[in-house]
Amino acid sequence: MGRITGPVCRLCRRDGLKLFLKGNRCDTPKCAFERRPTPPGMVQKRRSKPTEYGLHLREKQKVKHYYGVLERQFRTYFARAERGSGNTGEILMSLLERRLDNIVHRIGFAASRSAARQMVMHGHITINGRRVDVPSYQVKAGDLLRVKNRVKSLQLVHAALAESRREVPDFLTRSDEGVPEGRVDRLPSAEDVSIPVQANLIIELCSK
Ligand code: SF4
Repeated sequence: MGRITGPVCRLCRRDGLKLFLKGNRCDTPKCAFERRPTPPGMVQKRRSKPTEYGLHLREKQKVKHYYGVLERQFRTYFARAERGSGNTGEILMSLLERRLDNIVHRIGFAASRSAARQMVMHGHITINGRRVDVPSYQVKAGDLLRVKNRVKSLQLVHAALAESRREVPDFLTRSDEGVPEGRVDRLPSAEDVSIPVQANLIIELCSK
C-alpha cells in the first residue's frame, strides 16, 4: 500500500480530528484521517494521557493549523480579542473566521485555506470593487467579494466550485451567475467555526 498521509494530514492525525487542510480530498474516503486516525509513528494503545497543559496546547495548535496562522500572528489575534468587550474566546474565533483567506475558502472559491491564500495574494479577489491581496484582511458585514473578471481567476474559481461538496455557511451568500461573487451577510461568531473548538482552553493558556 502506498503512503496514505502527507505533512498536512499528519497535523490532523496529531490533533486528533479532521482539519480539512487538503481541499476536496478531505471529503472523500481517501482522507488519511478516515483511513488511519492514530498519530504518525504511534500505536493507539501506547498514547499516554495528555497533561492539563498538553490539552490546552493541543487546542491552540489545532486552531493555528486550521487557520494556517503562525504563533506571532496568533498572539496578535489574542491581544485584539483581549482588548475587545465580551467573551475573549468568542472574539478570538470570530477574528480568525473573518480572515479573507478563510472566507474565500468557506464560500467555495478555493478548495482549501492554503489555496485561498494563494488566490488572494495573486490578486484574484476584489472586495467592494477593490483588489485586496492580503490574506489576513478582516471582512466586514456587507462586504461584497468578487472574483476578478479575467480568464485565470475565473478558471481557478470555476474549478473549485465544480469540485466543492461543502455548503456555504449561513453568514455568507454566494451567487454563481456570471462572474462568481459573494456577500458577508453578518460577522461570523464562534458557532460558525466548522470544527469543535474549546476556546476557553486557549484563553487560559494564552493568559498565563
Ligand atoms: Fe488529510 Fe484532509 Fe483528511 Fe486532514 S481532513 S487527514 S488534511 S485529507
